[in-house]
Amino acid sequence: MIPVSKLPQTGTTIFTVMSALANEVGAINLSQGFPDYECPAELVELVNTAMKNGHNQYAPMAGLLALRERIANKTEKLYGAVYNPETEITITAGGTQAIFTAISATIHPNDEVIVFEPAYDCYAPAIKLMGGTVKSLALEPPDYRIPWEMVKRLISAHTRMIILNSPHNPSATILHEEDIEQLSAIVKNRDILILSDEVYEHLIYDGQTHRSMARYPELQQRSFIVASFGKLFHSTGWKLGYCMAPAAFMNEFRKIHQYMVFSVNTPMQVAIAEFLKQEDYYLNLSKFFEEKRDYFRQGMAQTKFELLPCSGSYFQSVSYRNITDEKDTDFAIRLTKEFGVASIPTSAFYNKGIDHHVLRFCFAKKAETLDRAIEKLLKI
Ligand code: PMP
Ligand code: GLN
Repeated sequence: MIPVSKLPQTGTTIFTVMSALANEVGAINLSQGFPDYECPAELVELVNTAMKNGHNQYAPMAGLLALRERIANKTEKLYGAVYNPETEITITAGGTQAIFTAISATIHPNDEVIVFEPAYDCYAPAIKLMGGTVKSLALEPPDYRIPWEMVKRLISAHTRMIILNSPHNPSATILHEEDIEQLSAIVKNRDILILSDEVYEHLIYDGQTHRSMARYPELQQRSFIVASFGKLFHSTGWKLGYCMAPAAFMNEFRKIHQYMVFSVNTPMQVAIAEFLKQEDYYLNLSKFFEEKRDYFRQGMAQTKFELLPCSGSYFQSVSYRNITDEKDTDFAIRLTKEFGVASIPTSAFYNKGIDHHVLRFCFAKKAETLDRAIEKLLKI
C-alpha cells in the first residue's frame, strides 16, 4: 500500500541534499547554514549543571517561565514591545516548529498566504498541508526589494497572512522603513496576519536597525514573531527557539504546540534563561558576524564570482554569470564535486525554480575554513 501524498511536489530539502553531497565527496560545506565553531563554553557548562541539578523532566508546556520572562525583558529593551510571558511567549523546538505551528494554528482551507521568494523552504509546505494557497511573489537580485504595488494587487478577500523574513535567508537583505510604511498601509483595516521570521535578528550589519514587528504596535498586534536560539548561540543542533504573539493568537498556537511536542528540552531552557542575563552577548553578535562577512567578502572579491549585497543573516550570495551559463543546481553540484566547495543554488528558494545564476554561501565558519574555501574557489 502506498499512502496518498499530502505533498506530492515536495522532495528532500536542499539543505539536506547539499550537506549530504558535501560529506560524500569531502567538500568544504558552505551550503546548509550552521557554524563550524563552538557555542559559548559557559552555556555548555550551564546545561551540564542544569542536568546535574536534576532539571531533566518535562518543562511546562509553554516553556520555562524564567526563560519566557527573560525573553519578554529582552524584547521590551530592544524593541519596546511588552509581551506577557505567561500568555504571549512559547518556547519551541526551533524556529521551524514555531513557523509550522503558527501556520497550522491560523490557516484554513482556501486561505491565501503571501510569500516573498526566494523564500526559506519550510513556509510553503506548511501552508499547503493546511489546505491554504501560497501566493508567491518573486523578488529579483541584486537587491530583492519588495514591490509593494504588486503586493497590493495580490491581496484578496481570502488573504489571511503575509510571511516576512528579515534579515532574509537567502538574499541577506533587510526590511527598511519604507517597507514598514507600505506594509502597514496594506494591512490596515484588513484581517491579515503577519508571520515574521526574525531568526537572524542579531545578525545585521553596518549599524543598520532590525525592524522587528515588535517595534510597530499596529503590526505587532497582528504578528507571530519567530526567533531561534540556534542562531543566537551557534547551536543549531539544539533545536530551540520561540514564538511571541498577542494572547489570542498564542492561545491558538498552544492548542497545536501542546499536541505537536507538548514542551521542549528542559536543561537547555534552564541554561539559556541564566545565560541570557548577559546582554553584551547578543549585543555584540552583529560585530562578530560582520567581521566574518567582511572576511569572506574580501576573499571572494579575488575570485570570478560577483558579490551581491549582504546586510544581514549569515549568508553571502554571489552571481556566477561571469563564469558559466550552467543551471545553478548543476553548477552547485559541479562546484562541490570538482572544486570541493558546497553552496546552495538559490533557485531552490523559488517554487518555480527561477534561476538567476546565484549561489548562496554560509560564512558562519572559522577563518581557516573560509580561507580553504576561497583558495579552492580561486581556481575557477
Ligand atoms: N527561518 C529561517 C529564515 C532560517 O534560515 C531557519 C534556519 N536556519 C529557520 C527559520 C529555522 O530555525 P531553526 O533552526 O531554529 O529551526
Ligand atoms: N536554515 C538553514 C539554512 O538556510 C538550514 C536549516 C535546515 O537545514 N533545515 O541553510
